[in-house]
Amino acid sequence: MVAQRFASFGESVFAKFTRLAVQHGAVNLSQGFPDFDGPQLAKDAAIAAINAGHAQYAPMIGVPPLTKAIAEQYASRGFDVGHGKGVIDPVQHVTVTCGCSEALPATLMGLLNAGDEIILFEPYFDFYIAGTVMANATPRFVSLHAPTRAGAPFTFDEKQLRDAFTPRTKAILLNTPHNPTGKVYTRDELELIASLCIKHNVVCISDDVYEHLTYDPALPHIPISTLPGMADRTITLSSLGKTFCLTGWKVGWSLAPAPLSACVRAAHQFITFSGPTPLQHGAAAIIHDMTHKPSAFVAQIRSLYASNRDKLAAALMSVGLTPHRSDSTYFLMADHSEVSRRLGLDDDVAFCEYLTREVGVASIPPTVFYDTKSLGKPLVRFAYCKKEATIDEAIKRLGALKK
Ligand code: GLN
Repeated sequence: MVAQRFASFGESVFAKFTRLAVQHGAVNLSQGFPDFDGPQLAKDAAIAAINAGHAQYAPMIGVPPLTKAIAEQYASRGFDVGHGKGVIDPVQHVTVTCGCSEALPATLMGLLNAGDEIILFEPYFDFYIAGTVMANATPRFVSLHAPTRAGAPFTFDEKQLRDAFTPRTKAILLNTPHNPTGKVYTRDELELIASLCIKHNVVCISDDVYEHLTYDPALPHIPISTLPGMADRTITLSSLGKTFCLTGWKVGWSLAPAPLSACVRAAHQFITFSGPTPLQHGAAAIIHDMTHKPSAFVAQIRSLYASNRDKLAAALMSVGLTPHRSDSTYFLMADHSEVSRRLGLDDDVAFCEYLTREVGVASIPPTVFYDTKSLGKPLVRFAYCKKEATIDEAIKRLGALKK
């Protein structure tokens, strides 16, 4: 009975591997969510909002304290929506959604007409392709290639990117820092993307949900909307969940100039209309706090994740998997081909199922993130956004692969 537009997707890979992890008692390094709590300040503010009776629909664009806190947060970092750096109006430029998960289809459906083309980098977060299908638009892919040299980042080919732009291209969807590779796009890469957006009059949708989770000071997150000529053609998407370990709160937003905010709102008002009111108040408190003083919570999780990443990468190497460099996000990719050859496993799905069932560690098979399936088959994605003890337990279990 499932409509054709969704039938080919089957069960979401995140639902499947979290289900398998529970079924087999595996350490769950599949779906990207922290296994510990968010900051008390946000929780107290959300509980206070419930007790104060904030129980009715939030305004379609979000509760005023939150839209204001988001606008101030971006203004303080020099973001631009076409009125000069730091000039952001909550009412015109910010739209609160039910997580970035809603902001994505709202943006895609609000912006794209049937037959419009959108450029996606593969591997892509699977919502991008589902959202493109919901919008009846046509995806064009640019591949991020795994490095052949240890310690090098994933890179794309300039010619493939240039060739992806056609007269039908209306948008490009950028995700930096990037899930699933942990890549942070460099200034040179972003300048190239920006110059092509400007040349072809294309809108850039920038999914920045991992913006605060970078681990190498030499590779900071650079918001593409701050590059010359990009302010009035960028829709920046982000959320509370990744930064503050509150993925289940589902508070996300878009930041865009008024004509592009209108696209997001056109769809958002008919998808959810608005997100949960008390949680928006909780989000407002913690975002306001981080604008006015450096967030100790964020500093702490950054250092935890960087240390988890290093430990996990070393452990993967010691059992014959080849981890690739990850400078950000919750994730790292590793090459499993050698181990899979030894075990007689065909591809990433077979490897991840084996790992969950026999080794007791769940991961994600990344072919679902690729149009060019051959690029994803040798790879596996691990989430390291966990307590140290969880990573230690996973490392202990991964030792079984040595045999
Ligand atoms: N962003 C999360 C990940 O990549 C998953 C979100 C979801 O479950 N849809 O693991």
